[in-house]
Amino acid sequence: MDLTKLTIQKANEGLKSREFSATELTRALLGEIEGRDKELGAYLEVNRDEALAEARKADELISGGDPVHYLTGIPLAIKDNILIKGRQATAGSKILEKYTAAYDATVIKNLKKEEAIFLGKTNLDEFAMGSSTENSAYQTTRNPHNPERVPGGSSGGSAVAVAANMALGGLGSDTGGSIRQPAAFCGVVGLKPTYGAVSRYGLIALASSLDQIGTFTKTVSDAVILFRGISGHDEMDSTSTPDIDYSELLVFDENRIKNLTIGIPKEYFVKGLSDEAARGVEEAIETLKKSGFKFKEISLPHTKYALSVYYIIMPAEASTNLARYDGIRYGSRSEAESLLELYLKNRGRGFGPETKRRIILGTFVLSAGYYDAYYTKAQKVRTLIKQDFDKAFHEVDVIFAPVTPTLPFKIGEKTEDPLEMYLSDIFTIPVNLAGLPAVSLPVRGREGKLPIGFQLIGRPFREADILGIGQVYESA
Ligand code: GLN
Repeated sequence: MDLTKLTIQKANEGLKSREFSATELTRALLGEIEGRDKELGAYLEVNRDEALAEARKADELISGGDPVHYLTGIPLAIKDNILIKGRQATAGSKILEKYTAAYDATVIKNLKKEEAIFLGKTNLDEFAMGSSTENSAYQTTRNPHNPERVPGGSSGGSAVAVAANMALGGLGSDTGGSIRQPAAFCGVVGLKPTYGAVSRYGLIALASSLDQIGTFTKTVSDAVILFRGISGHDEMDSTSTPDIDYSELLVFDENRIKNLTIGIPKEYFVKGLSDEAARGVEEAIETLKKSGFKFKEISLPHTKYALSVYYIIMPAEASTNLARYDGIRYGSRSEAESLLELYLKNRGRGFGPETKRRIILGTFVLSAGYYDAYYTKAQKVRTLIKQDFDKAFHEVDVIFAPVTPTLPFKIGEKTEDPLEMYLSDIFTIPVNLAGLPAVSLPVRGREGKLPIGFQLIGRPFREADILGIGQVYESA
């Protein structure tokens, strides 16, 4: 049996029935990483010894008759902007080179309670700014379906690790699409939970009102397992919501799910959507229709402003979040004659071009005289975008949309033109502005072709609806 190809669910069954051990499973995945990751570049750091020690501990628990949780002994890949105590956390930036995390992110703490295994830290665009993982200060990650193509970003490393059987599941962060877009490009399931459902404590912040940690898995059932493992109230994150009863996720009620109405926003099926991408999502609609789902056309009229609003609010928040990186408390430090020179050198050398661009943009929109014209106005339009969704959810239960306007593009194709790169998030950004849950699912039946995804967007905290429809789609 090839253990690397297992889903989390199947691996859990195998571990429980002692068909194989967590150590065997971990070794198999480490072997796959050794064989394939030189070419793909998904991992920035592989924690071989730590992972094997965690596997041994899981095996002891299992053989000692302790309760085996869904994630006990399951090897995972973690985006390098999520802190694991004692391991590197670079956020893909030179300014955090050699930085070692002093504490566990809450999601990691939760996963440790279940005795999950952390194989290593995965590559990302610097501070999660990007859509191709080419903005990493360390390496370029390649799409396993065609290494000449990008895997998407910013969580490209975790997406590739799961897609190429170098982890059974992974964590990423999604501020404007960074989980759903790479999931679509790599042919895996990517879940961006409702804002507040998962603690952001220990996530290196990009834009705090938009960031959310989420999952990469091979199947929807695995997304349910991993999401349940990381979600829950956390007093260390003031925007974390009180505990939600997610038990419904585990009792899949097909009758209830099949009665949900799916909305199709006409604003998402426009010129920018390439023919190939459109064909892919239409196939998914056909499959869902055959499964008996009712579709209804809806309108989200303020969609056209989402990208502009995002590129004001996100850099505004990023510029303030990144103010803490002065090269004194974290990461590498330059020599200088004065304090000002030290800041200028550290930040000048430590940050890459995209990060600098956004700090400048953010500082500009927040500066006196421009604040109201840009930042305040963007916040108002953000409310209108959210209200579009609120209205739509009076008519439908779930919204269907494309994830990406194109198939995975070529490495280097969009690096010269930031605006062109920003456009690849046009379908994912509104969801973050509205704080909604959304899952990106691979269109099935594309073996031998480049992957393409579609997304299901739900009401706040209705992960059960989008994942339920996802389960029906998968079994169809
Ligand atoms: N690609 C988008 C950006 O560059 C989204 C990033 C993200 O979700 N972290 O900002």
